[in-house]
Amino acid sequence: MNSDEILKKIENALNKAKVEFNEEITEKGLEEIYKNYLGKNSLLNNILRNISGYEPEIRKTVGMSVNNAKIQIEETYQNLKEQLKVKNSMLNRSLKIDMTLPGIKLKQFHTHPITAVLNDTVEFFTSMGFEVVEGPEIETTHYNFDALNIPDNHPARDIWDTFYLKNGLIPRTHTSSVQVRTMEAKKPPLRVIAPGRCYRYESVDATHLFMFNQVEGLFVDKNAKLSDLKGILEATVKRLLGAKKTRFRPAFYPFVEPGLDLDIECVFCHGKGCSVCKFSGWIEVIPCGMVHPKVFEYAGINPAEYKGFAFGMGFDRLVMLKYNVNDLRLLYSGNLDVLNQF
Ligand SMILES: [Zn+2]
Repeated sequence: MNSDEILKKIENALNKAKVEFNEEITEKGLEEIYKNYLGKNSLLNNILRNISGYEPEIRKTVGMSVNNAKIQIEETYQNLKEQLKVKNSMLNRSLKIDMTLPGIKLKQFHTHPITAVLNDTVEFFTSMGFEVVEGPEIETTHYNFDALNIPDNHPARDIWDTFYLKNGLIPRTHTSSVQVRTMEAKKPPLRVIAPGRCYRYESVDATHLFMFNQVEGLFVDKNAKLSDLKGILEATVKRLLGAKKTRFRPAFYPFVEPGLDLDIECVFCHGKGCSVCKFSGWIEVIPCGMVHPKVFEYAGINPAEYKGFAFGMGFDRLVMLKYNVNDLRLLYSGNLDVLNQF
């Protein structure tokens, strides 16, 4: 045999072994093939055993070729054996699943308390014919201040600790910014509420965050009266907070005239006085008032023809009062141990 013939034989043996291995699906079969090609009496080992009989110049080539084939066969065998092992263990595991066992019970979740009270509020106001509107959270100072009768350099601007952005816009400090936007976009009569996030430059504590939720309300009609405002807001705190006693106090807000604060009897001490109500027996819940004629003018509505009232509910505060939460930060913590208690 010349060297070409021997090398051809080695190559054929290697190729045949690979084909046989890849067609085999049992571990026993793999071992059988392994024995045939790398066993004591295999072709490759026979060539090696008789290598001294070959011409000295072809011994090296044949030796290298046999060793190379042996390494490849060994690798193929080990890889396939490993794959088969993994496949079998997966098969065993899937056979162990007892389909008759009861499933894992999924945890029941519920809406976030803020969302729940918001949904309740929206439902209540829409039942009275109010429509939900929205405005941008990043606002111009025109809609947030000027159009609400709070001109630049007016001391009243200090009430709202404002973040100012580099481009001159601001994260709105209250949802009142939606008032003039709505009056420009829609023709009166109007009944709208505008829920949304607001931002103020505040130091964070139990009752203040730099971000909070508000619900703005605006009612515009030819015959709108202060008594309409009182009736609607009293009904609101009764429905949302179960308030039994309410009172209105005069207050100053530049965009309303007259301005009022709606207080409810303290839900914690029932009017006796406690730390939450600062021992007054009352808690302020809704700033409100009749729309200022100047605001109507900014919005292009004739104040001699139309009257209206507006209110802004600090929404997180309502949630705190409703659920007796003493730290606002808990509501935004995302802590399920807290939220699951509601
Ligand atoms: Zn109290």
